[in-house]
Amino acid sequence: MRGKALLLAVIGKKNASHGMQIGAAHIDSPRLDLKQMPLYEDSEIAYFKTHYYGGIRKYQWVTIPLELHGVVVTRDGTVKDVVIGADPTDPVFVISDLLPHLAASQNKKSLGEAIPGENLNIIIGSEPVSGDDGADKVKLNVMKILNEKYGITEEDFLSAELEAVPALPVREVGLDRSMIGAYGHDDRSCAFAELAAIIDMDDVPEKTSVCVLADKEEIGSEGVSGMQSHAFECFIEDICAAQGVELRRCMERSFCLSADVTNAFDPTYPEVSDKRNNAKLNYGVGIAKFTGARGKSGSNDASAEVVGRVRRLFAENGVVWQMGELGKVDEGGGGTVAKFMALRNIDTIDAGVPVISMHSPYELVSKLDCYMTYKAMKAIYLEK
Ligand code: MN
Ligand code: MN
Repeated sequence: MRGKALLLAVIGKKNASHGMQIGAAHIDSPRLDLKQMPLYEDSEIAYFKTHYYGGIRKYQWVTIPLELHGVVVTRDGTVKDVVIGADPTDPVFVISDLLPHLAASQNKKSLGEAIPGENLNIIIGSEPVSGDDGADKVKLNVMKILNEKYGITEEDFLSAELEAVPALPVREVGLDRSMIGAYGHDDRSCAFAELAAIIDMDDVPEKTSVCVLADKEEIGSEGVSGMQSHAFECFIEDICAAQGVELRRCMERSFCLSADVTNAFDPTYPEVSDKRNNAKLNYGVGIAKFTGARGKSGSNDASAEVVGRVRRLFAENGVVWQMGELGKVDEGGGGTVAKFMALRNIDTIDAGVPVISMHSPYELVSKLDCYMTYKAMKAIYLEK
């Protein structure tokens, strides 16, 4: 889907009138997008201005290595892929922060206000171009390098989507290597489970299995590549049409596991969770009957019947699972693609990998929970 989302299916033995078994995860993650006119020079340092995407805690994004990914579309329509910083021999980028010696005023500000969004400016160069007497020579030098490498001009940023993400490799965490640290576990840990489960399918499933890897979840599932887009209907309808089945008949009998991460109980911050109702690391895939905020606002809120169906299915397939809720009542909240699947008259429930430090540059999950999410996805796809 337009280079941003992906839909896969394995056609089942039964036709689409029996419904489909759907897994829906998202593959976008919170990040720093470059603004459309990002490049500037200040005091002989060149910068990119950014506008953050998704829910971030801004103070976490300064003084860490960043890499750039995205596309630049030039005026003649050529799409150029840009990846800088992912290769260990590449340079990386960074956003500055104050030294403690001069942070007396900043230290008095609240955590949410200490780093304003407009301060998330990425340092990209400091060397002036040689043999030029004009202004902004550092900026010019950076543009020269980009032009040599990618054949782009400053104007091409207007039609570019460039994103800065942490340049931190995925690593095993803990002496026992029981955990995985990485950027973007939300929601790639679940997206991977979904994808691996559909690829590993040996037999033709009873019902058609559908793996959805959606974009734009972190900003509300908006846009043509988000889960609210009718691109999903187009895909399902193509299968239905080939089998002479009406789309609405298929939808009402389909089942969706909205595979998205949940928060794992963090013993360092116990005050934000109800210990009895929060998912924990190493207790398996975390089912969330509802998400949302305050009085469950913005939630899918799966029925008891749907929860019961998943309990039974997981028990039959040896899936270790747990029930979880996103923190204490009125402490905050969040949403997933679940409600947009339910809108389509599809029974839907949230379940996924519990995460510590969700939405941070380096999120933490347990291997056991990842494996159980994979097994859970397999059970969903293969339900008879
Ligand atoms: Mn998510
Ligand atoms: Mn998220």
